[in-house]
Amino acid sequence: MIRDIETTLVDVPTIRPHKLSVATMTTQTLVLVRVRCEDGIEGWGEATTIGGLNYGEESPESIKANIDAHIAPLLVGTEGAGVAPLMKHLRKTIQGNRFAKCAIETALLDMQGQRLGVPLSELLGGRVRASLPVAWTLASGDTAQDIAEAEAMLEKRRHRIFKLKIGARGLKEDVAHVLAIKRALGERASVRVDVNQAWSELEAVRGIAALEEGGIDLVEQPVRAENRAALRRLAARFDVAIMADEALHGPLDAFDIARNGGADVFAVKIAQSGGLVPAQQVATVAQLAGIGLYGGTMLEGGVGTAATAHLCSTFTDLSWDTELFGPLLLTEELLEEPLVYADFALRVPDKPGLGVRIDADKLRRMRRQ
Ligand SMILES: [Mg+2]
Repeated sequence: MIRDIETTLVDVPTIRPHKLSVATMTTQTLVLVRVRCEDGIEGWGEATTIGGLNYGEESPESIKANIDAHIAPLLVGTEGAGVAPLMKHLRKTIQGNRFAKCAIETALLDMQGQRLGVPLSELLGGRVRASLPVAWTLASGDTAQDIAEAEAMLEKRRHRIFKLKIGARGLKEDVAHVLAIKRALGERASVRVDVNQAWSELEAVRGIAALEEGGIDLVEQPVRAENRAALRRLAARFDVAIMADEALHGPLDAFDIARNGGADVFAVKIAQSGGLVPAQQVATVAQLAGIGLYGGTMLEGGVGTAATAHLCSTFTDLSWDTELFGPLLLTEELLEEPLVYADFALRVPDKPGLGVRIDADKLRRMRRQ
């Protein structure tokens, strides 16, 4: 039986300002959710947003408030072992709140995995890979600094896929910035861009043509999420891979975009999808439609990143790799043992459940008062 559900906000400074078209982040707020059962098992879940309310309609504070006031009372006192019926009840009773639901589902699956003695990936059908290549996001905004950062990552064998956040500046300036980085790195790295919806369709046509010509491998969400027709036209027009990210709010969006040939690649995000199981459905739709998969991040800390890693480890085809670098962008580690990044990849934890544990003392010290 579920005994209690506790939510904690933790503000963690980033290692450098993280510039996106929608916001500049210097701190990431983690919403950590602990679910405890009468049998002594506890599970962890996490929710994060990007730039508070800049990216989506949930903020760390709203996630905490809605879990505390509306979600926890639904679940406390019920049988914690039945993850599927609990989530069915939760999804039927509470609209929206995908990030909050994801944190809850993660914690329930973490507990279930521990109870059964299997890693979370095995509850999702089983892993087909033990490590996941991880892209790094270059988002200082400064060309020379971004090149130096990329070179250091290649040298350390930590990343050889780089995603550039663009769209905050003018089109010409952005394209020059990206192509200078691609020229410096050459064939040693895959260079991709994320426009975070900043371009009009016409800007996208001009921008993508120049990026494709310059050897960029992928363009993520160039236009507004609601403008699916424009995304579809861009995917049809260009050879370079066009990825849907903000346009994907779960399986129904995935189905609609796939049916209309609206993208070449899907960024699969557990929070955006409303949980691990819906995110797996997004991935299934993509695979059935011949759409490539990419493991996306909401810049989660260790818990959310481990959860996504378990899910991505089950994808038979993960041709566009992942961007599960969230913990590396943060100045503080809240896990007892940090996730392992080596040889350009993240190792998928293999202990029961999520396979990671929160350091309780550290959480107590760092929690928002
Ligand atoms: Mg994105």
